Amino acid sequence: MATQAHDGMYIGGEWRPAAGQDTIPVVNPADEQVIAHVPAGTAADVDAAVRAARAALPGWAATPQAERAALIGAVRDGLAARKDDIAATVTAELGAPPALAEAVHAGLPIVVAGSYAELAATYSFEEKIGNSTVRSEPVGVVGAITPWNYPLHQIVAKVAPALAAGCTVVLKPAEDTPLTAQLFAEVAHEAGLPAGVFNLVTGLGPVAGQALAGHEGVDLVSFTGSTAVGRQIGATAGAAVKRVALELGGKSANVILPGADLARAVGVGVANVMSNSGQTCSAWTRMLVHTDSYDEAVSLAADAVAKYAPGERVGPLVNAKQRERVRGYITKGIEEGARVVAGGPEAPFATGYYVAPTVFADVTPEMTIAQEEIFGPVLSILRYEDEADALRIANGTVYGLAGAVWAADPETAAAFARSMDAGQVDINGGRFNPLAPFGGYKQSGVGRELGTHGLSEYLHTKSLQF
Ligand code: NAP
Ligand code: MG
Repeated sequence: MATQAHDGMYIGGEWRPAAGQDTIPVVNPADEQVIAHVPAGTAADVDAAVRAARAALPGWAATPQAERAALIGAVRDGLAARKDDIAATVTAELGAPPALAEAVHAGLPIVVAGSYAELAATYSFEEKIGNSTVRSEPVGVVGAITPWNYPLHQIVAKVAPALAAGCTVVLKPAEDTPLTAQLFAEVAHEAGLPAGVFNLVTGLGPVAGQALAGHEGVDLVSFTGSTAVGRQIGATAGAAVKRVALELGGKSANVILPGADLARAVGVGVANVMSNSGQTCSAWTRMLVHTDSYDEAVSLAADAVAKYAPGERVGPLVNAKQRERVRGYITKGIEEGARVVAGGPEAPFATGYYVAPTVFADVTPEMTIAQEEIFGPVLSILRYEDEADALRIANGTVYGLAGAVWAADPETAAAFARSMDAGQVDINGGRFNPLAPFGGYKQSGVGRELGTHGLSEYLHTKSLQF
C-alpha cells in the first residue's frame, strides 16, 4: 500500500525539501491511527511552485495538441496501472470501503483522464467567425485547490482539462487526503510531463491554500469545497481580476412525481445519499414525495437504509470534526421536530469516525436539515401537495448543484427538470455521463467541470480580424 509518504514537495519535476519543518499527520478514519506524515507547505513552497509553473508555461502552451494529448493519455495509463494502489490509498486516508474505492475513487478518474486525452487531441482551438479567426489560448498558470471527498477525481477533473488547454498547474490538495495527491504526482512524473507543468504543494488551507489563491503569478484559481471558503476565494480572485471556478456545496432534490416507480426511485435515492458516507456535493439529500405516496416512501426508505451497515457498505466520515458536525445536524433535526425512522445521533462504534445511516421523515422545507448541506449519510424526506408545491420546495434553498426527477415517463420528468434551478438533473435514474458539464446554479458555484465545458474554463479567446 502506498502510504510511504514523500517528505517533500513535487516542484519543477522533482521532489524538493519543504521550506519549513512542520508536518501534517494523515489519519485512517476507520481506526483513528496515524498512517503517515506529509510536509505542511508555506507561502515559500507555493511561491517556488508557481515560479516553476510559470517557467514551464510557454513551452507547454506551444506544445502541439497531439503531443499534449499523448502525455495526458500516458497519465491515464499510469493511473490505470496503479488502480489497486489508488484504491488502497483512498481507503486508508478517506475510509472508503474497498469496493467503492476501486469502482469510483480509482475508476472514475481513469475515465475522466481518458476523456481529456481524447478531447485534447480533437478539440478545435481555432474557429472562423466572418472575417475573424478566433483562437482559444491557455489562461496560464492554474492554482487548483481540492477537497478530500473524492480525492483523486477532484484532482483529475481540474488537472486534466488544464493540461489539455495548455495551462500549467500548482495543486494544493486537502490536508486529510494528501497521499492520493502524492500518488498522482508520481504518475504525472512517470508519464513524462515536462518539469514544472504539474506541481504539488501539500499543506493547510488557510496557509498554503490561501497563499496559492492570492499569488499574483496564478492566472486562474479552480476551487472545490465549502461555500464559506469558496466565497473567500472568489473575493480574493475578484480583487485581483483573475479567473475563478468554484464547485461548492449542494442540497439537491430527488423529486418523485405521481406515477413513478416508487420502489426504484426510493431505492436509488437512498443509495445515492449513502454512497461515500454521504460525502458527495451532488447527493440527493432531500427526497420529495407526493402526499398520497408519502407513508409508503418512508417505509421503503427505512427498509432500504437497513442494507447500509456502517463498517461494511458505509465507511466512516473523513475526520472527527466532520463526524461531530453531522451528528450535530441529526440532533438539530430531532429538536426541530423531524421524525427519525432509521439511525440517529449515537455513534455506532467507539472507534472510527462513523455515523449511523439516518433517515428523517416529516421534514418541512424551513428546517435546518432541509436547508443546509450536512455532508453525511443523512436523508430528509419531505411531503408535497402538487407539482407547483414540489417545484417551490425543490428550488427553495440557496443551492442548485444537482437533482433527480422520477415520473411515469421521461418527458414528464424532463418537463419538471427544466424548471429546476440546478446544473445537472438525472431523469428516471439516467446514467452518469463523464462528458456532461457538472457545476452549480446559485450558491453551488461558478463554472463547469468535465467534457468540453470543463476544458473551456481554462481557455482565453483572442480574435484576429482579416
Ligand atoms: P474546505 O475547508 O472548503 O476545503 C476545501 C479545500 O480548500 C481544502 O484543500 C482546504 O484545505 C482548502 N482551504 C480551506 N481554507 C482555505 C482558505 N482560507 N484558502 C484557500 N484554501 C482553503 O472544506 P472542509 O472544511 O474540508 O469541509 C467542510 C464542508 O465543506 C463540508 O462539510 C461540506 O459541506 C463542504 N464540502 C464540499 C465539497 C464539495 O465537493 N463541494 C467537498 C468537501 C467539503 P484543508 O484541507 O487544509 O482544509
Ligand atoms: Mg477546512
